[in-house]
Amino acid sequence: MKLILMGAPGAGKGTHGAAIRERYHLPVISTGDLIRKAMQAETKAGEQAKAFVSAGKLVPDEMVIAMLEERLQAPDCQKGYILDGFPRTIAQAQALEEMGIVIDRVIDLEVEDEVIVQRLAGRLVCRECGATYHIQYSPPTGANTCDHCNHLLSRREDDEPATILERLRIYHEQTEPLRDYYASRGKLYPVKGQDTVEATSKLVLAAVGS
Ligand code: ADP
Ligand code: ZN
Repeated sequence: MKLILMGAPGAGKGTHGAAIRERYHLPVISTGDLIRKAMQAETKAGEQAKAFVSAGKLVPDEMVIAMLEERLQAPDCQKGYILDGFPRTIAQAQALEEMGIVIDRVIDLEVEDEVIVQRLAGRLVCRECGATYHIQYSPPTGANTCDHCNHLLSRREDDEPATILERLRIYHEQTEPLRDYYASRGKLYPVKGQDTVEATSKLVLAAVGS
C-alpha cells in the first residue's frame, strides 16, 4: 500500500503517520526529515537546502525529488510506504507518476491556520529520536528533555513566527492545489482535525481503510 499524508505544516502528519505505521508496518518517508538529515550531514544537497528551509520556502523540486527517489530504492520500501510531506507541488506529484508509482490514497489532514500557528510556535523537538512535544499541550515530563531518550529538546529554526506564516502562505499557494489534483483522480480522503490526537487518529485510520 502506498499512501500520501497531506496537510499544512503542523497539521499532525508526523503523529498520524506514526499511527498508520504501527497499524500497517509500513515505513514513513518524510522529505522534511531527509532534508534535515542532509543538512546535518552537510552534504552538497543539504548545504543548498539550508537557505530555503530556514526562510520557510520549499526546497527546489529537482533536489527533493532526487532525495526521495533514492530513499524509495531501499529494501524497506518494497512493500509500500507512507509519504509525509511529499508531494508538495504539482510538479512533485507528476514526478511520482513518471516514476511509475501508483498511490492508493491521499489522506488530507485539514486544520485551521490559527491552530497551526499556535501548535508550531510552541513545538519542541528531540533531534535524537524525532519525538515532538508542545510547551502547553503535550509538555515533556522533565524540564526540557525527551521522555524517550533523555536528549535535550529544542525548537526547530523554521518554527519562528515569521517563518511559520511564510510556510503557511506557501502551503496554500503551492500544496493545496494538490487536493483537486488527487480529488479528480478519486484518491482524496479528507480528514478534519479533531480536538484530541486519538479522535483524529481514528478518523485517519478509517480513511486509510481499517
Ligand atoms: P512541516 O510539515 O512542519 O513544514 P517538514 O519537516 O515536512 O515540516 O518540512 C520542513 C521543510 O523542509 C519545509 O518547510 C521545506 O523547506 C522542506 N521540505 C520538506 N518537504 C519538501 C518537499 N516535498 N518539497 C520542497 N521542500 C520540502
Ligand atoms: Zn528523544
